[in-house]
Amino acid sequence: MQKKGLVIINTGEGKGKTTAAFGLALRAAGHNRKVLILQFIKGPWVSGEIKAASYIPQIEVKQLGSGFIPLKQGKPVLSDKLREEAGRSIHYTRQMVESGKYDVVILDEINNMVDYGLISPETVAEIIEEKPRDVVLVLTGRNAHPRIVELADTVTDMKQVKHAFENGIKAIKGIEY
Ligand code: ATP
Ligand code: MG
Repeated sequence: MQKKGLVIINTGEGKGKTTAAFGLALRAAGHNRKVLILQFIKGPWVSGEIKAASYIPQIEVKQLGSGFIPLKQGKPVLSDKLREEAGRSIHYTRQMVESGKYDVVILDEINNMVDYGLISPETVAEIIEEKPRDVVLVLTGRNAHPRIVELADTVTDMKQVKHAFENGIKAIKGIEY
């Protein structure tokens, strides 16, 4: 019998949340599992992992909304447009999780969306509680909400010990994106 699909969270300040989720996608694809990666927030660059994932037939990647959330002194500058997009994105996410088409669904940076107040923790909790039993959900991003942490099976808090950025080393292609 197929085991219960776990809910996995990669959170914390340290580097490695998204790349660990893509590592899991690679692992699942290697066992011929169908993987969907939904990107809630994207950076200014085309990231290598998205490109590489597109070469793997078992992995589908989709960017939701316009992707970019402007920050002012670390705080998101919210707009009606971002709220509408977030509403549509979460609706789509629910449809995809329930579709039965995917064994693993990765919600990249969804924790930030909840943290910014663009998606309610209750909505994410509902998706987790109502998902098909076997579907594995992976949620990444900083400041995972306690309500969602409570529902998850495996939660990793990436702890930053050092980051090259602090020494003035700017984002490196192939390492940071
Ligand atoms: P990665 O994508 O490398 O797994 P992440 O998902 O843990 O990192 P995010 O918070 O999503 O990190 O940050 C996105 C981008 O910022 C990535 O390019 C990441 O490498 C980089 N980054 C992560 N942590 C830091 C940090 N403490 N200082 C500066 N840049 C960081
Ligand atoms: Mg990330």
